[in-house]
Amino acid sequence: MSDPRQVVAAKRDGYSLSADEVEAFVEGYTRGEVNDALAAAFLMACLLRGMDGAETLALTRAMIASGDTVRFEGLERATVDKHSTGGVADGVTLVFAPLAASLGMAVAKLSGRGLGHTGGTLDKLESIPGLRTDLEPDEMRRQVADVGCAVAAQSERLVPADGKLYALRDATATVPSVPLIAASVMSKKLAVETDLILLDVKAGAGAFMKTAADAEALAEACLGLAHGWGREARVAVTDMEQPLGDAVGNALDVVEAVDVLRGEHRGRLRELAVAFTARGAVATSGADLATATADAQRAIDDGTALERFRSMVEAQGGDPRVVDDPTGVLPSAPVVLPIEADRAGIVASMATERIGLASGALGAGRVRKGDPIDPAVGIVVRCKIGDQLEVGQPVGEVHGRDADGVRRAAREVLDSLELRDEPVTPPPLIHAWLD
Ligand code: URA
Repeated sequence: MSDPRQVVAAKRDGYSLSADEVEAFVEGYTRGEVNDALAAAFLMACLLRGMDGAETLALTRAMIASGDTVRFEGLERATVDKHSTGGVADGVTLVFAPLAASLGMAVAKLSGRGLGHTGGTLDKLESIPGLRTDLEPDEMRRQVADVGCAVAAQSERLVPADGKLYALRDATATVPSVPLIAASVMSKKLAVETDLILLDVKAGAGAFMKTAADAEALAEACLGLAHGWGREARVAVTDMEQPLGDAVGNALDVVEAVDVLRGEHRGRLRELAVAFTARGAVATSGADLATATADAQRAIDDGTALERFRSMVEAQGGDPRVVDDPTGVLPSAPVVLPIEADRAGIVASMATERIGLASGALGAGRVRKGDPIDPAVGIVVRCKIGDQLEVGQPVGEVHGRDADGVRRAAREVLDSLELRDEPVTPPPLIHAWLD
């Protein structure tokens, strides 16, 4: 490779990089020849200067080429992958994977860890004692054939360049960039050769894309990459003006997902998991949307999806009793502080990123690259936009390690709520579907 500092300097000065330059830089970083400092400078230059379509394509291709690809030959069921661009209390994958599998799809998914203020499916799943996400490509293939769903991490063999760059972006404030997110998400989706890709592009206060217009630009960039690879994709732009579910942590999110899969918890998390499952069924089996939606609701209510979750957890080495007694099996925090409303009014908005950061500060997220996370801690927020609150009303709780930490987090949650006297219409859950 030519001097990698020249590549960074060219991007810093606003020039477009050639595909060779981008690919050589990523290859050098993956092999350890380019250090973290230079790679962080590269990422910041890309974030500030932007990347054109050809550069984004080259970045995506380089990340895929850094590892193996996974193919599913001889499977009778259609294979489906699903990914979110990152949100707060976004446990959709935990519900979607077993739910879609119970409707006959084969779900094969490479997930990410927590990024910035957002949570990561891998961190949530790994809070289940024993559960492994470092599946080798062959293990992933076998599990998808046997169980119908597998959720795995990037590894030395699967998109390792994204694994390294993702962790570096998390630690260097270089996440919210359309090309960097599109290349990161799509490298993982294109490396696993499924029949269908479902993408959840989040828009709003708790997303990396704060407006629906920016989220649509990200959705288009991801779709462009999918189509460029000849892959079928459906993309939803969905609301992240408020936490999607209630739990903002890791083990707490698993408890909530199990409650949803038991049919005991309704709300936006269930609704979105059902919507993705139904779209997946429509695209892969030609079912009509109303029937597919009803089938998905039934698979939750009759326990079929929950049993699929049990099988997935067991296949990945986790304790399957998590579906019978989640709070008994999962790690729990020593200090739990109820959050009570300190003002009356109707919730008009929620500073959702602030809630995600407050959970991260308790230990649920990372400050430095490679930091361990604390699976037990986090925040549960049980109010949504449009809810009427009274003074003293319980609106959730903080799970933490010490009294000061939980008090600070509870204050952050209360300060994140904007209350009004007039009725407030909640934002729609799904802004648009694109394909
Ligand atoms: N999810 C990813 O995999 N990458 C991103 O950059 C953001 C969300």
